[in-house]
Amino acid sequence: MNKLYQLIYDALSSPNEELGDRSKYIGSSDLGCPYQTYHNKKNGAQPKTLSQLLVLRRGEMVEAILKKAFSNCPNVAYQKEYQHPEIDYIKSHLDFEFFGKDTIGVLECKSIGKDAPLPKTPYQNWNDQLNMQMGLSHLNNPTKLIKGVIVAINITNGEFKIFDGYQYNETSFNKLVQRAQKIYHAIQNSNYEDLEAIQSPICNYCQHKIHCPSFFYVKNEEILDLTYLNDIVSEFLQSQIYESEAKQTKQTAQQAIQEAFNNYKLGICNIDGEDIRLKKVDVEKYSFNEKLFKDEHPDLYDKYLRKSSYSYIRVQ
Ligand code: SF4
Repeated sequence: MNKLYQLIYDALSSPNEELGDRSKYIGSSDLGCPYQTYHNKKNGAQPKTLSQLLVLRRGEMVEAILKKAFSNCPNVAYQKEYQHPEIDYIKSHLDFEFFGKDTIGVLECKSIGKDAPLPKTPYQNWNDQLNMQMGLSHLNNPTKLIKGVIVAINITNGEFKIFDGYQYNETSFNKLVQRAQKIYHAIQNSNYEDLEAIQSPICNYCQHKIHCPSFFYVKNEEILDLTYLNDIVSEFLQSQIYESEAKQTKQTAQQAIQEAFNNYKLGICNIDGEDIRLKKVDVEKYSFNEKLFKDEHPDLYDKYLRKSSYSYIRVQ
């Protein structure tokens, strides 16, 4: 392996010392998928390629951007560690914590993948992570009102979204503590049978997909050797990326053209010497409100509902 490559690889694959030995405790980011956490902690994460390591560092870049943004804010803590006062193996490192007179604000930042759209609502594993952090902050600062916010950033295209309005919730927190305890005891007893495999966007980077009961593995089903189709599957995956990029480009262009046509019906432009005509066409469209119909006429809905089945190949 090239020396420079090796140097970068070694630097990026060394563990983040700020987080301590993660095999010894259950952190808030371990709650997303108990099955994955068990296998990561029990068997150690598999070696990653340099590309995978670089992608995983995106989150730290987002944190660094926000750290700079908050550098002049008073009373802000970065990567503060909290431990559950009664369960010493439950810990969390909060990205940012803002201390007010009566209130504490917990901020969790998330980085979005290159081709992933910003979600309309936060993913469940994001909510779980923040709820656990707010709960630990509450237990360590019982007189303060604990609030939370998630900031999601796509550093490739500059899109960002703020999900605000979270507040410490005892019921959600207790459920998460129970989940953490279940994971911890499964690890101690080397038995993961009762652990849930919960799908989320992290499945894309998960090293346990091949034996994951939720994502891929089906009990008693033989796994076909399709390595002779490697090139074709690779082309298929590449074409999916092109398709998504083309879709995004089309949407952006469509929006710019629509805006230009605000009060006009006809337009012309010239591409490589050829006139291109653009015309605004008004269309009337009818759509069927299936949900309303189902609510108001459930019998009729059931009478006309036809069930059919088909299968398709999911490539992940
Ligand atoms: S593939 Fe997804 S559901 Fe399965 S273990 Fe990994 S993260 Fe969990």
